[in-house]
Amino acid sequence: MIPFLDLKQVNEPHQTAIQVAIDRVLASGWYILGHEVDAFERLFADYCQSQYCVGVANGLDALTLVLKAWSFPATSEVIVASNAYIASVLSITHAGLTPVFVEPDPQTYLLDPARIESVITSQTRAILPVHLYGRCCDMGPINELAQQYNLKVLEDAAQAHGATYKGKRAGNLGDAAGWSFYPSKNLGALGDAGAITTNDAELATRLRALRNYGSAQKYVNDYLGHNSRLDELQAAILSAKLPLLDGENQRRRELAQLYLTGIRNPDVALPPPDQVEQDVWHLFVIRHPRRDTLRTYLHQKGIGTDVHYPVPPHHQRAYVSYAQLSFPISEQLHREVLSLPLNPGLTDDQVTYIVEMINQFSDI
Ligand SMILES: *Cc1c(COP(=O)(O)O)cnc(C)c1O
Repeated sequence: MIPFLDLKQVNEPHQTAIQVAIDRVLASGWYILGHEVDAFERLFADYCQSQYCVGVANGLDALTLVLKAWSFPATSEVIVASNAYIASVLSITHAGLTPVFVEPDPQTYLLDPARIESVITSQTRAILPVHLYGRCCDMGPINELAQQYNLKVLEDAAQAHGATYKGKRAGNLGDAAGWSFYPSKNLGALGDAGAITTNDAELATRLRALRNYGSAQKYVNDYLGHNSRLDELQAAILSAKLPLLDGENQRRRELAQLYLTGIRNPDVALPPPDQVEQDVWHLFVIRHPRRDTLRTYLHQKGIGTDVHYPVPPHHQRAYVSYAQLSFPISEQLHREVLSLPLNPGLTDDQVTYIVEMINQFSDI
């Protein structure tokens, strides 16, 4: 059996470093907002070639807090792809703003810059490009539009640790970026964790207060803040794991290359190769017109798969007010996408076996 993802196996190469980090935090007697969070923030900001990093409790909070910190008027609109992950959309709603969906590029599954301008209104305040599956959105034209219409750009980089666009790292491609270190991400904690990167000093200062009850000085509250702090323990674990991230992403690229060159089934649509971006292959997502049949077949062959994602946000009950809208590209993607196993713990032989099974699949 090849599981879709075995986190115990993924964390095995880090075991000694993680144990050292845990012991250090335990011995320190200091567990919230201390040296470990400071140290990780410095390391991760440098890694992203960004000036500031603010650790928070999770990825959803990272995005939500930035949108709150920008203090847009209550009716403001934020543009997001209609196939975005639900957390990207929830962050907009939780900040009291209105998500405005646009269809993704059907080849890359990413926010399509060509569709943005037609939905910009006098209420639009921000664009939220999601670097879905590990590939950066086409940020050149997105930033140009943002500049032209005076909009903020918030990257959702939760799937793109280490990805680049024209040589620049994700997290440094807009006004701010939200990160998640959920255990299954390319850089994953042993629990919930998140961060924001930005080059905006004032925003970083405000976010440091917003994550901690809106307080920069103990018992002095300048904003209606949250409790969204990054634990010392998770920060220490993330600092321990960060040095291996580039190597792990490289291994993901090698495995993705095996899939890209090996899969020849004519009914399978493959993700496009890198162009100006360097993908970190958080997920390897193929498409098949009879996705569920293929998924069952692979399961019978001992191959675990997943679907990211089965239901688009506008068809979720939580967004029932959007149910009447139609996004045919997005709806087709949600019917057809299938995520194959891809993580640094997989062997070449395992991927070769998966490729063979996919090439042998015929349901007609
Ligand atoms: C994981 C993820 C999030 C949310 O992160 P959490 O830490 O689970 O809150 C947001 N956006 C994307 C694209 C994600 O993959």
